[in-house]
Amino acid sequence: MATSANAATAQDERRNSKASGRSRGAGKAGDGAERHETIYQQIREAIVEHRLKPGARLREDALAEVFGVSRTGIRKILQRLALEYLVTLTPRRGASVSRPTIEEARDVFAARQLVECQLIPWVSRRLKPADAKALRTLATSERQALRSGEQSRAIQLSAQFHQRLAELSGNTPLAEFIERLCSRSSLILAVYGDSGHLGCESHDHDELIALLEAGKEERAVAFMQRHLKAIEASLSIEDSVDETPDLSAIFG
Ligand SMILES: [Zn+2]
Repeated sequence: MATSANAATAQDERRNSKASGRSRGAGKAGDGAERHETIYQQIREAIVEHRLKPGARLREDALAEVFGVSRTGIRKILQRLALEYLVTLTPRRGASVSRPTIEEARDVFAARQLVECQLIPWVSRRLKPADAKALRTLATSERQALRSGEQSRAIQLSAQFHQRLAELSGNTPLAEFIERLCSRSSLILAVYGDSGHLGCESHDHDELIALLEAGKEERAVAFMQRHLKAIEASLSIEDSVDETPDLSAIFG
């Protein structure tokens, strides 16, 4: 499907334009496509940053009015977000922000363990001083966001850090896969995260950068394993509301 490639390209463009001060320039696909891409990014960010809460209804007509585009356009964007599991489409109810289940949360982190740790040696071998510097800048922004209590922004910056690492591996399909996993993780963190102990501590990220710079591959892999485990452990996914308690086990 071309959508993820488009998303990655648009993200790269945004990053590049931010980094170099260049403007995005006219897209090959024309204004309509570009406008839709912007709307897609805006809705996606609002979900990941928890400004749109899990379960919130996303009415096509209301969104069409807010963004000044057709309902058909909005529908396509919502379908795209549904493919990324950020939006859930229900036949009569329409679209709503996904509410990740505990099982999904565990699976997402298991997938991240498998893929992100495998990529670390590749990152370590390809990392250039400028890459390390850019990663440090992200880690610093994340720390500042945490300090000033901007939780959503910190979650977003955390995800960006992991995405950037994946891109540095040089494997685009895997980087795109990780980008999706990170989006879903951000939603999971927003739902199950504890505001006092929020996912990635940027102090951790600085340590990881240092290991990568020093070429300590094995230690960096072990570090990433511990890091992802720690994030998962910080989630309050132990006590499920929906589960029927096993009364005989509790009182037996
Ligand atoms: Zn992290």
